[in-house]
Amino acid sequence: NGTITGANEVTVKKSDGGSEKVNAKNILIASGSKVTPFPGIEIDEEKIVSSTGALSLKKVPEHLILIGAGVIGIELGSVWCRLGAKVTCVEFLSHVGGMGIDMEISKSAQRILKKQGINFKLDTKVVSAAKNGDKVTVDVEGVKNAKKETLECDTLLVCIGRRPYTDNLGLDNVGIKLDDKGRIPVNPRFQTQVPNIYAIGDVIAGPMLAHKAEDEGIICVEGICGGVPHIDYNCVPSVIYTHPEIAWVGRTEEDLKEADIPYTVGKFPLAANSRAKAVDDTEGLVKILGHKETDRILGCHIVASVA
Ligand code: NAD
Repeated sequence: NGTITGANEVTVKKSDGGSEKVNAKNILIASGSKVTPFPGIEIDEEKIVSSTGALSLKKVPEHLILIGAGVIGIELGSVWCRLGAKVTCVEFLSHVGGMGIDMEISKSAQRILKKQGINFKLDTKVVSAAKNGDKVTVDVEGVKNAKKETLECDTLLVCIGRRPYTDNLGLDNVGIKLDDKGRIPVNPRFQTQVPNIYAIGDVIAGPMLAHKAEDEGIICVEGICGGVPHIDYNCVPSVIYTHPEIAWVGRTEEDLKEADIPYTVGKFPLAANSRAKAVDDTEGLVKILGHKETDRILGCHIVASVA
């Protein structure tokens, strides 16, 4: 366990109780994120699990309920549905796939996942859940109509988001203040308020994506070594590992409408694609958004087995 105890010092606590001070010219924080807890619902990683527990369930659940149909919800819902579980996703919003997904793509993915057997309860929020013998009861309420219902499952997955992990980092010791979302503010060189302390990945702003964090790590260190750090965040792709996969890069149609950017749409269904037919995986589509006047590609969205 490492704690920053000075601008050039990290104190490392060892599992045997001892500790050691390590001095460094530069410090790079890459501590990632942790599961956002649901107030009143205790995760035991057996019956009520986070994404960590959902990767190592001892058996296929009879009925798996997910709180949240964002990225983790539909990814793990898709996995356990394919392994034979009945899956119900309870989602507060009117769409699946989390924030930032193109609505047409979200609807198409939801239709495909529904056909595979996943049940979606959209516009519905979970208000509480409790273990009841072998089962877990989940109280839900309609967002638009306040209709209340109690659901029952044998495994409940809480996937309502992740938050930056900054516990015990010792940021107070060097005067680093978090922003209103608990993230470490950095400049384009990934420097925190203390210039020789850097931060990258899930603890700073931006999408919580492993490949975004990796690139930031490389670019940050190149910058420390004298290079010119630059990331075009518009070119960082997103992917949801359902089957079929959902992937995109650039702007959504909703973004372009809101920004009043004139655009054209090109769409092609995989059902008409020979390669998709040859491998018998024809669910999905490709959607390209281009600038109406310049044809510059502004966004690309794919639902396909190898999106
Ligand atoms: P998310 O933000 O994608 O989805 C959480 C969902 O929970 C939201 O749609 C929200 O409306 C819903 N929700 C919140 N409270 C609710 C309630 N009381 N009742 C019903 N619904 C509720 O978060 P996540 O799926 O937990 O993922 C966390 C982070 O991890 C994301 O930033 C994601 O990008 C990242 N992640 C990415 C990948 C990937 O890139 N393939 C994989 C795993 C995780």
